[in-house]
Amino acid sequence: MPAVPLSDLQYFLLDMDGTVYLGPRAIPGAQEFIAYLRASGRRYLFFTNNPAGDAARYSEKLQQLGIEATPADILTSGEATTRYLVSETPYRRLYVLGTPSFEQELVRAGLELTNSRPDAVVLAFDTTLTYTKLEQACLLLREGLPYIATNPDKVCPTDYGYIPDCGSIAALLEAATGRAPKYIGKPNVEMVRMGLEKLGADPARTAMVGDRLYTDMEMALRAGITAICVLSGETRAEQLAAAPQHPHYVFESVGQLKQALEASG
Ligand SMILES: [Mg+2]
Repeated sequence: MPAVPLSDLQYFLLDMDGTVYLGPRAIPGAQEFIAYLRASGRRYLFFTNNPAGDAARYSEKLQQLGIEATPADILTSGEATTRYLVSETPYRRLYVLGTPSFEQELVRAGLELTNSRPDAVVLAFDTTLTYTKLEQACLLLREGLPYIATNPDKVCPTDYGYIPDCGSIAALLEAATGRAPKYIGKPNVEMVRMGLEKLGADPARTAMVGDRLYTDMEMALRAGITAICVLSGETRAEQLAAAPQHPHYVFESVGQLKQALEASG
């Protein structure tokens, strides 16, 4: 796909860590970039693979860093999974391994939680996991039930270290059942589709901005939207040449992307 001119881009799907902030600090220019998107009438959505109903926590963090965001500006993998279940599947009765906040999100969308003859098993980053839940999930997966999970991350970074995430719980269940889930979060293109749906965005005028080639950029290219890589996080300039994924645009940071958008008129 040839690059879409920057001036045509109206919708921005934004990675957070490494793109607008790095750990506890905003990336220089990130506040101005977001303010520019708003002022110029462009729309944006922040993506997170954390499904634990933490949109409010993320918007709080962004606000504390001077980046304008409300919970509605954030798409969690939990919300994407809920939207996917409702709009793309007939599954309405679910056996869920997830936190109470994720369970509430499913219930608010009209889905029913049950361990009696469910239509599907749904796995999330479940910090309230018990052996009983694992046992029940195992028995249901062995019956061949459809199996969906929020995000493939093996670990979740916290301020006290890396803790087991959804992908690690899935690995345990795979060892016991031989079954692997369909993941909805990044880098699955479902996450992009749900983001486009939430923004009411035209894919031809939408860009994904992120710092990781094998998740953010890979997902953007597979979804057929503009891929914009920033070098403020994980990816180094010298890795780009050797990488199998070639983003449409590369900038040092979102600050530099803002300047390029301004210059494009
Ligand atoms: Mg990142």
